[in-house]
Amino acid sequence: MAAVNAETFPLAARGAGGSTVYIGDVPIGGPEVVLIAGPCSVESESQLRTTALTARAGGASILRGGAFKPRTSPYSFQGLGEPALALLREIADETGLPVVTEALEPAQVPLVASHADAIQIGSRNMCATPLLRAAGESGLPVLLKRGMSATLEEFLFAAETILLTGNDAVVLCERGIRTFDSYTRNCLDVGGIAALKRLTHLPVIADPSHATGRHELVADAALAAVAAGADGLLVEVHPDRSAARSDPEQQLLPDELAELTDRVATIAVAIGRRSFGSVPLAQVALTR
Ligand code: PEP
Ligand code: MN
Repeated sequence: MAAVNAETFPLAARGAGGSTVYIGDVPIGGPEVVLIAGPCSVESESQLRTTALTARAGGASILRGGAFKPRTSPYSFQGLGEPALALLREIADETGLPVVTEALEPAQVPLVASHADAIQIGSRNMCATPLLRAAGESGLPVLLKRGMSATLEEFLFAAETILLTGNDAVVLCERGIRTFDSYTRNCLDVGGIAALKRLTHLPVIADPSHATGRHELVADAALAAVAAGADGLLVEVHPDRSAARSDPEQQLLPDELAELTDRVATIAVAIGRRSFGSVPLAQVALTR
C-alpha cells in the first residue's frame, strides 16, 4: 500500500486529530460509540415502526433501513423503493431518529437525499465514481461501506473522491471482506479498523451483521470492532427474522440487541469511551 500521507490523500489522511461527522444531530467520531440500527429492508409500516422502537430502546441514535436493495441475485427482493423512503422519513420523524438509507445510482441520489439524513453507499458500489460524486454533491453526510474485495487503499481513495466534492461529512464502514472461508458470510477486518483509525481522521464504524451473516455471532464481532477503535456500529434488527425478506439469518431480535448493547458498554468503558444505551431508558425522551 502506498504511504497514506498529505501527498497521496490530501483530504482523508490523518492530521493532528480526528473528525466528528454529524448525522442529524448525532455526532460520530466523538467520545461516544454510536449505534445505527434497523432492518435490512423496509418491508411494511408496522415492521419499520416496531423495529425503530426496538432500535431506539436498544440505544440506537440513528435508524437504518433499505429502500433500494443491492441484492447479489437479481431475483431476490429488491426493496420497496420510493414508498419505503416515505416510510423511513415518517418513522424517523416519529421516533426522533435521523435515518440513513442507500442510493444505488447517481440518478437516485436527489430522491434519497430528499427523504434521508445521510446517504449510504453500499459495498457493491464503493468503486462507482459517479455515484460517489453524486452522493458527495448532495451535501448530506455519506456512509461509505468498504467494498467486499477492496483494499484499505482503495477504500480511502473512494472516500477521497467524495471529499473532493467539497463534502467533508464521510463516515467509513468496515463490513467484512472476502476470504477463503465460507462459514461466516465475510471476514470482519478488525485490524483494518485499527489501521483506518491511524490512517485517516474520518470516523470509522463497523457492520458486524454483514460481516458475520449469522445472528449468533453479531454481538461477538461488535465487541471486537469497538475494542479495535470503531466509533460506532451498524446492526440489522427485525422483530421476526424468519419472516425477513432479506438477510434473515443476520437480523437480531429485540432481546439479542439488548444483550449486544449491554456487552458493548463494558468494552466501551474499558477503553475509556461512553457507549450507546448507557442512558437509562426512562430518561430517553420519547420524541425530540
Ligand atoms: C446494507 O447495509 O444494507 C448492505 C446492503 O450492506 P453491504 O453494502 O455492506 O452489503
Ligand atoms: Mn442486509
